[in-house]
Amino acid sequence: MELNITNISKTYPNGVAALKHVSLRIPKGMYGLLGPNGAGKSTLMRILATLQDPSEGTIHLGETDVLNSKDEVRKTLGYLPQEFGLYPKATAENLLDYFAVLKGFSQKASRREVVESLLKKVNLWDARRLKLGGFSGGMRQRFGIAVALLGNPKLLIVDEPTAGLDPTERVRFLNLLSELGENSVVLLSTHIVEDVSELCTNMAIINKGEILLETQPLVAIRSLRGKIWRLMIDKSRLPEIETNYQVISTKLFSGKTVVHVYSNTNPGNGFDMVEPDLEDVYFSTMTGHMGSGRKKQEVAL
Ligand code: ADP
Repeated sequence: MELNITNISKTYPNGVAALKHVSLRIPKGMYGLLGPNGAGKSTLMRILATLQDPSEGTIHLGETDVLNSKDEVRKTLGYLPQEFGLYPKATAENLLDYFAVLKGFSQKASRREVVESLLKKVNLWDARRLKLGGFSGGMRQRFGIAVALLGNPKLLIVDEPTAGLDPTERVRFLNLLSELGENSVVLLSTHIVEDVSELCTNMAIINKGEILLETQPLVAIRSLRGKIWRLMIDKSRLPEIETNYQVISTKLFSGKTVVHVYSNTNPGNGFDMVEPDLEDVYFSTMTGHMGSGRKKQEVAL
């Protein structure tokens, strides 16, 4: 089972071109769609979840033409939107049971089994009788995943799921997602580089509605070896450094500014070569030093 997105564009009625000729091949496993706010991620997620139509393009899940078989696709699709409302006074068990009815589980006994196994899977069994209004952010997201998993979807779409989670909740949530990736296509949209580096075997970087890079994290990182150089400076030197070098990122560390620059050769002047990570891939791509258009990474591991 593979998800194939071909030449998808979306222009909203107000003229905003949120997606421009997006093509992606998304195999089984965890796939990360990484990009800043406003890049077009949610728009693409909603289109894939059959909740809105693109202006052009096609989508296939396996052999199924998604845009022309929405009802069929919805049966095998799970979607965790960026924001979702819950009924604060309902208990986790009752609300999941209710959603299971909506999903077509009409037999009470089998529904109870499904609800129980899902609550256990997302580690909310002990909290099943608690009201959702008292849930933490992480518990809410895990409940959302339980809802999205009703019907055993072949395609699971999760939109910015870790925003707002504390570190422990985030790790727990990502572990849950990675288990799910073993059997289905899990598409994760995020602006957090670590979500992708920790979890995804395949990824794309999107900005301003365009795919800038489609790659595997390890391949992309390897292709940057020997090209990322670091210098610690006082902030006042930043304009000079930016004029003379291809700065891809700046970060504060212990009151100093840590600059990463892209260079095929040793820039000298106190720069140290660093082992690149996915953040360097992301910033090199966003600053135009890596990828471009829909070009694929063709660097062997
Ligand atoms: P992301 O999820 O990456 O933050 P979005 O898909 O939400 O990006 O937004 C992409 C662009 O489309 C943004 O410029 C946003 O303002 C615009 N946009 C999103 N939804 C709508 C809408 N319903 N109507 C008009 N413009 C929209």
